[in-house]
Amino acid sequence: MAPAVTLVRLLCGSILLIGMTTGQAAPQPSGFTRVPNNIIRALIQALTRQTSVPTVTRSVNPADQTRSLTPIIVGSQRIGDVTRRTRNPLITSRRADTTRVLPIDEIIERAESTSATIRREDQRQLTGQGSLVIEGDIVLDQWELTDMDKQIRLDRLEEQLMINLPEARKNDMAFRDRLRARLERRETTSPVRQKRAATRSSRRRWPNALVNVRIASSGFTRAQKNRIAESMNEISEKTCICFNIISRAQALDRVPHVRIRNGNGCRSRVGRNLRNQGGTRSQDLTLAPRCRITRIATHEFLHVIGLFHEQSRPDRSQFVNIFMRNVEPGKRGNFRRLSRLTVDSRGLPYDYRSIMHYSNRAFSRNGRFTIVPRPRANRNQFLNRIGRSTEMSRNDAEVIRRMYSCPSSPNTSQSSCSGYPYRFP
Ligand SMILES: [Zn+2]
Repeated sequence: MAPAVTLVRLLCGSILLIGMTTGQAAPQPSGFTRVPNNIIRALIQALTRQTSVPTVTRSVNPADQTRSLTPIIVGSQRIGDVTRRTRNPLITSRRADTTRVLPIDEIIERAESTSATIRREDQRQLTGQGSLVIEGDIVLDQWELTDMDKQIRLDRLEEQLMINLPEARKNDMAFRDRLRARLERRETTSPVRQKRAATRSSRRRWPNALVNVRIASSGFTRAQKNRIAESMNEISEKTCICFNIISRAQALDRVPHVRIRNGNGCRSRVGRNLRNQGGTRSQDLTLAPRCRITRIATHEFLHVIGLFHEQSRPDRSQFVNIFMRNVEPGKRGNFRRLSRLTVDSRGLPYDYRSIMHYSNRAFSRNGRFTIVPRPRANRNQFLNRIGRSTEMSRNDAEVIRRMYSCPSSPNTSQSSCSGYPYRFP
């Protein structure tokens, strides 16, 4: 019997011929598929040959400064600005509509490049920290990004195998496990893999669900500090995460903490990822003046605690269509789907109401949709809903409770954290 030949077309464009030896007349034992080692080796080689990573570096464009800006005020909060270039009717509308909510990604996008001074400072910081990559409002090390790419390829490869090998039935767990084990073993030998392994694991979580914070830049007004504290209150009320505001002396005493600072844009790292900087053991949460509103602070703090963007979930393709052709060139990395090894959704369903979801026109280059819920029923219900949450959804809270093994029935009326309600000096 001739070997069955299956074509696996990897997304990177290479085509791999796989000879699949099925064996003579012997029927496959049920629940088990033999995959010869040479095939797995060939797969791994094809996988690891593709090492180029699309790098998203921030463009520092002086033209950004020329936009004309009109502040949008809701209540006493300035929630954003109208710029001439926007084509979103929700924003260009001049009606006095106080319920209007700017999409999270719009605020994040416009918070960049606010002044040349900040840009220089920010650039210094970025170069000082090695090769950092900015994905929307997430800051990643180059190795994190490289590794995510690798994991995505791994996921896709597995998916392709499942589709293309008739013998590899979906419920064939023995095959799946064996393939995954082989690929993982190969990946483990690379330094990249070893470093990343923590993203999903406990190393990126904050011990005892306690996050030390400090505002490390001057120029934060009392109102801004209160809004940041409000977001910390919300997180502590809905989860078992506690915050602890530390002093400058404690910071210099190398108490590990999140350094809230001024800078270009609104951005954070994902999970606990401390480094030695300025005599402290800390990681930065950058909040340009426009980001100092409660919902943006909440969004960024949830990155700190360990959440990625909802639209990056491994299973997102079932729930949203991404229109890459409408995305600004250089911003396409924001629409990256992350692998199951990077993101653990902990059994919770896709959540259009997540405060970690971007809006339908996020990073659009032409005013057209970039993210559209699917299928049609979801589109109708959520198209104008995504990216507009003003507080954590029930599932945002639940995923954190599961991630940090919070007590199953949290006292939601009042936080039990010692410093609650929080107040910055
Ligand atoms: Zn974000």
